[in-house]
Amino acid sequence: MKTSVIGFPRIGRNRELKFASEKYFKGEISEAELLEVAKEQRKFNVTTQKSAGIDLISSNDFSFYDNVLDTAFLFNVIPQRYKDLSLSVLDTYFAAARGYQGDKGNVKALAMKKWFNTNYHYIVPEFDDGTKVELIGTKPVDQYLEAKSFGVETKSDIIGPFTFLKLTRFTGKTKAEDIASVLTDEYIKLVSKLQEAGCGLVQFDEPYLVRDLDAADIALFESIYKKILSNKGSVKVSLQTYFGDIRDIYDNVVALDFDLIGIDLVEGKKSLELIESKGFPKDKILIAGLVNGKNIWRNNYKATNDKIAKILDKVSEDNLYIGTSCSLLHVPYTLESETKLPADYKKHFSFAEEKLTELKEIASKDQAALNSNIKLFENRVNVLDQKVKDRVSSIKESDYTRLPVFEEREKIQKERLNLPKFPTTTIGSFPQTADVRRNRKDFKNGTISENEYVEFNKKKIAECIKHQEELGLDVLVHGEFERNDMVEYFGEHLEGYVFTEKAWVLSYGTRCVKPPVIWGDVSRKEPITVKWSVYAQSLSNKPVKGMLTGPVTILNWSFPREDITLEESTLQIALAIRDEVLDLEKNGISIIQIDEAALREKLPLRKSDWYSEYLDWAIPAFRLVHSGVEAKTQIHTHMCYSEFTDIIPAIDSMDADVITFEASRSDLLILDALKENNFKTEVGPGVYDIHSPRVPSVDEIVTALTKIRAKTEDSKLWVNPDCGLKTRGEEETTASLRNLVEAAKIIRGQ
Ligand code: GLN
Ligand code: ZN
Repeated sequence: MKTSVIGFPRIGRNRELKFASEKYFKGEISEAELLEVAKEQRKFNVTTQKSAGIDLISSNDFSFYDNVLDTAFLFNVIPQRYKDLSLSVLDTYFAAARGYQGDKGNVKALAMKKWFNTNYHYIVPEFDDGTKVELIGTKPVDQYLEAKSFGVETKSDIIGPFTFLKLTRFTGKTKAEDIASVLTDEYIKLVSKLQEAGCGLVQFDEPYLVRDLDAADIALFESIYKKILSNKGSVKVSLQTYFGDIRDIYDNVVALDFDLIGIDLVEGKKSLELIESKGFPKDKILIAGLVNGKNIWRNNYKATNDKIAKILDKVSEDNLYIGTSCSLLHVPYTLESETKLPADYKKHFSFAEEKLTELKEIASKDQAALNSNIKLFENRVNVLDQKVKDRVSSIKESDYTRLPVFEEREKIQKERLNLPKFPTTTIGSFPQTADVRRNRKDFKNGTISENEYVEFNKKKIAECIKHQEELGLDVLVHGEFERNDMVEYFGEHLEGYVFTEKAWVLSYGTRCVKPPVIWGDVSRKEPITVKWSVYAQSLSNKPVKGMLTGPVTILNWSFPREDITLEESTLQIALAIRDEVLDLEKNGISIIQIDEAALREKLPLRKSDWYSEYLDWAIPAFRLVHSGVEAKTQIHTHMCYSEFTDIIPAIDSMDADVITFEASRSDLLILDALKENNFKTEVGPGVYDIHSPRVPSVDEIVTALTKIRAKTEDSKLWVNPDCGLKTRGEEETTASLRNLVEAAKIIRGQ
């Protein structure tokens, strides 16, 4: 059987592209130098896949920031405000991605959203009535030719028109259906350009097909592809789906003239059933996504072979390709970079490069590889802990409920905390300057003592507290200088976790995360954050928030186990964090923030699964964490990219006292929904975007707050940025927070 890879990581084995891009943003290297680094990465990617013997390799899976934004730029879906800056094409692109503040103007970035159920974020294209769809870019063609110049024949990987239309925000009167036809024509032009360049295969990524689709969606999809497929010339077209099954549109898809169809057999719960019950056309190739593109465990060959055997009842061996379940963008590059991971662990892992070998071994029915894979699964070193299991099974229904009820707590807390109207606060982290990172690194490498490490952090905390007091913020934070990352930090202090050194995965733009791996049962050895929080609180009369990450986010941003349910893993983590909450409270911390930045992220893509498969255990797991505190202790939570308009009752039933969330990029739409749902929790809708270096003016924040006040009760409103400040520089942070505090004062005076 042949093999196919949907897409490959692009940031570089050692994050070369990240470092080069960031240098470019700072003006330290030229555009040409950046382009050269990017080219090297692309060369590495295609040649690595070729040497691994992969048959279908993608070009154009590369991006400087995001592939959806690339597609928007390819077809001229570029808001005029970015064009008006009169920058180079690349800088216009970066302005749309990151915002621009400089001598040519001052504009915010486009909105950013989570890419389906992953921790990758795409840029939301914006279409207004003045936008004229037109193929203006050449990136797919250039990158196809470039790969060829490296000796690699590739398929061109393009976000399909249906998914593109579904993800685009239409801000004027024009709707997706109105431009579908013109857009399709431009896609057809692109296909013929690719054909002229010699490209024989185009892969259209249509992950949107795994969501709930209605008749109009299906009609739209069909109208687009009927046209594309009847104009495809000699180019073969592959329809690539991922992140689930395509139950709503399977029949329509197989009836169309695609040459290849890619189906996810890892996350697609119904994929196998669809193929078995409905069959698969004899004249098409099925790319069976059997190697998990999202998790880092070795593939279980025996289980995979069982699936293959079933598929082979319906598809001939010649027509069956073994593929990844989704792009390998969501896993790290290679185990080769892991020098510290013990071999007993390492052999159970498989990153992007190792997955290439797996594809090959599965497709070639390598008997020796199969035998050793079977042994591997039989002899897994487990870290199972009966005490943890017992504790989880003894959780009572009442443990999920905090008493007294919110309204009573709210009164008690208002009295105790005695905060001004519109209290100002931040989300937790302060800029992670070079010295902060160096301190952690030196400690990790053993070049400084624990004492030196602690003293440095204490100094930073003291400065941070003083700084916040000077700014006039009302509720302070300690700054999170001890944390590399809000999840990895907790993982490192919990039993049951395993860590990597270089297993970076792209989160957005050039930002990567290094998810820890849940290896065994999770528990807390000893208090984790208490010392830092107590120290910070000792420096101020204002409340300093305890700062924790919630169980759902810890789970969602870790590589999870595959041998127990996500629910069970989450409850184990919840119990560990619950102990930490109670210890903070016992030590005099009056406000505790439990971040659930990633809560919405793993919401099933199909609405019908939202509660039964996720929220019904995720929300109680959060409640379990804080249900043990006294009424006077204020529990905050924080959520990012909060497209939670549709799950507001669930968010309210997390039963936190205050929730801060990202709102500045999403035009505050969420506030209407909060009002409609009589949201009881106090709210801090982020008043400015921290994902961009731009400093918001006082006026701008006052305007945002005025809009917010029109929709929210004053007594429930907090004033804060939309996320943690760790990725920002110190200067811009100070300037922004100064404006934020000033804006709150103005509002108080009104
Ligand atoms: N408390 C965290 C911080 O400020 C929250 C980060 C996040 O929401 N992603 O960094
Ligand atoms: Zn956040």
